[in-house]
Amino acid sequence: MPRFAERLAGWRESLAELERWLLPAACLLCDAPVAGREGDALVCSLCRARWRPVVGPLCHRCGQPAFGDLECRICAAWPPGLTSVRSAVWLEPSARRAVHFLKYEGWWRVAEAMAEAMRTLEPLTGQVSLIPVPLGARRARDRGYNQSERIGAELGRRTGLPIRRELLRRVRETRTQTALTPEARQANLTGAFGCHGAAGMALVLVDDVFTTGATLVAAAAALTAAGAARVEAVTFARAMEPVG
Ligand SMILES: [Zn+2]
Ligand SMILES: [Zn+2]
Repeated sequence: MPRFAERLAGWRESLAELERWLLPAACLLCDAPVAGREGDALVCSLCRARWRPVVGPLCHRCGQPAFGDLECRICAAWPPGLTSVRSAVWLEPSARRAVHFLKYEGWWRVAEAMAEAMRTLEPLTGQVSLIPVPLGARRARDRGYNQSERIGAELGRRTGLPIRRELLRRVRETRTQTALTPEARQANLTGAFGCHGAAGMALVLVDDVFTTGATLVAAAAALTAAGAARVEAVTFARAMEPVG
C-alpha cells in the first residue's frame, strides 16, 4: 500500500501529464512551441542546444576545468575510491530550471533530455554498470521518485548499459547539503551509504548535479569497500564555474 505522499506525487505526475496532453505542446523551459518532429519532447531542441557543455582541458579526476599544472581545488583532498567524474553541462539558468522541474515539480520526463546530453560522457563508453545515487527513504517518499533513478533509466535505455540500483542504499538520512561547507558535507555523509555485492565490478554513479562531489565520493567509498574494481560518475550538470 503506497503511502499518501507517494500517491500524491503520483497524482501530481499524472496531472502534469494530463496538462501536457490538453495544452498545445510547448517547451517546459522557454514556452516556445515544440516542433511536431520533436514528438512529445518536454525540452525544445533550441534550449538543449543552448545548454553549455563542460569542455576540456579538464582535471582527469573530478572533471573540473584544469589550469596547467595547478593543483585541482575540487579533488586534491578526495580520499581514494572515485576515479573520475564527468558532467554534461554547466548549471546555468536553463539547465538549473530543468533540474528544478525534475526534482521538485514532478516532471520526471525531463530526464530524457538530460540523459540525451549525457550519453557520450567518457565513463559511459566502457563495459560498466550504472548506479543511480540513492535518496534517503524519507526524501524518496516525499518526492515520490528518485530523480537520479529517472536519469539512470534514460541513460540505460540509450546506452544499453545495465542498471544495478540494488547494490547501493542510504543507511542514514542526511541533512540537506546546500548550506554546508565542503568539510561539513563530507562529515555529514560519512557512513551514509551501505553496499554489498559489488566485488570486481566496474561502476558508474549517476546523479543530477555535481557541486563539491561529496555525495559521489561517499558513495564511491562504500562501493570500493564492498569490493568494486572501479567507480566513476556522471552528472547532468556541474554547479561551480571556476574563477579566473
Ligand atoms: Zn525551449
Ligand atoms: Zn580535480
